[in-house]
Amino acid sequence: MKIEYEDPFVKIAGLLGGEEYIRVARALLNSENATDEEIASATGLKINAVRKTLYDLFGKSLITGVRVRDLKRGWFVYRWRAQKDQVDGFINGQKKKALDHLQKRLDFEEGHQFYSCGKPECRKLTFEESIEVFFKCPECTQTLKLIDNDHIKEALIWKIQQMVEEINNPS
Ligand SMILES: [Zn+2]
Repeated sequence: MKIEYEDPFVKIAGLLGGEEYIRVARALLNSENATDEEIASATGLKINAVRKTLYDLFGKSLITGVRVRDLKRGWFVYRWRAQKDQVDGFINGQKKKALDHLQKRLDFEEGHQFYSCGKPECRKLTFEESIEVFFKCPECTQTLKLIDNDHIKEALIWKIQQMVEEINNPS
């Protein structure tokens, strides 16, 4: 499904949940204040799938729901509305989370030395772990050697700089 020229709200929905989310997001943009049932009939999706999608989008503050009484039937229903102005904030929030994750990973790489026997199938060990096993690989018993993690650190720093750029200059 092509969503290249789609509204950012629909794009984000697609990234979060794929095809079903895209259909629900489009329905929300086409009719403001639609109910679960209206969205289900507009999208052809099952009511449970529609509700699951709506609750997820609601939990991420990308839509609002207003509880109103259905006058014909007497019970309460929700009327949903896309929060298009929340999309940028949501994207930025996701980027900041990713940045935080990268920063923690970099701190970890900088704060630890890693040792390995050199076999790709064996696990890397921290310095502390390596002392405990007397620098013998616990899996294959070969001698552990210090791994140079400079290239990992460089890659992380490069990615962090790129993210900071993106957050500071949103397109
Ligand atoms: Zn090994």
